[in-house]
Amino acid sequence: MKCRDILIKGKAKSVYTTDTKTKLIIEFRDDITAFDGGKKDVLKKKGRYNAEVSAFFFEYLEKNGVKTHFLTMIDPHHMVVRKLEMIPLEVIVRNIAAGSIVRNYPFEEGELLDPPLIVIDYKDDARHDPMLNDEIILALKIVTPAELKKIKKVARDVNRLLSALLSAQGITLVDFKIEFGRKGKTICLGDEISMDSMRLWDKKTGESLDKDVYRFDKGDVMAIYDKVAKRITKPVKKK
Ligand code: C5P
Repeated sequence: MKCRDILIKGKAKSVYTTDTKTKLIIEFRDDITAFDGGKKDVLKKKGRYNAEVSAFFFEYLEKNGVKTHFLTMIDPHHMVVRKLEMIPLEVIVRNIAAGSIVRNYPFEEGELLDPPLIVIDYKDDARHDPMLNDEIILALKIVTPAELKKIKKVARDVNRLLSALLSAQGITLVDFKIEFGRKGKTICLGDEISMDSMRLWDKKTGESLDKDVYRFDKGDVMAIYDKVAKRITKPVKKK
């Protein structure tokens, strides 16, 4: 399968049409950005780390009953996916307080959020992705009440599944962002799930293993992405 026309060029990924109407190709580029695009770089191999981890998570989630857009990888940077009608919501699940929730509300960094918090932002760069609530989501008719219920259920399922998988590798899933789309009437997971869209902390050392390393100049971000991608996708089995 080959890329045909470019459909969308995002900050770190490009989406292409293919010869099959129902399939698209996502290119994971080596661009990395933070702070609403205020910080930008091109880091060699970054795209392949995110693609590899996303593909691994999507396959694992599919095996555990979560519907995703993932079909296959063509090469380390290109993923074939089912075409979805994307829903402009950023669904964030938080197990531990960090990032914007600490900046904007009186939570303490590192505070356990039990039960996990689901926060939903409106995906709109021009408006800087403002936080929504259920009433605004329904008033804007972004989804139906049944779809909103389903999205929250899937977000909780994804959290449970990924938290368990990562915990077995000594990694705490602090928070993550996922996006959804419709395939007919079915709600599917789209976009990516990678170190760019999650906060991962080493259970023993508390070290950041995600884009916070880039955001806050905490070290060699590609060395960390390389290590964490291996840790997630090629786990060493304990004897
Ligand atoms: O910045 P904030 O603390 O709200 O981010 C919560 C989580 O969602 C982080 O893991 C972050 O990487 C992810 N996120 C994202 N894309 C955004 C906003 C947040 O992947 N546009």
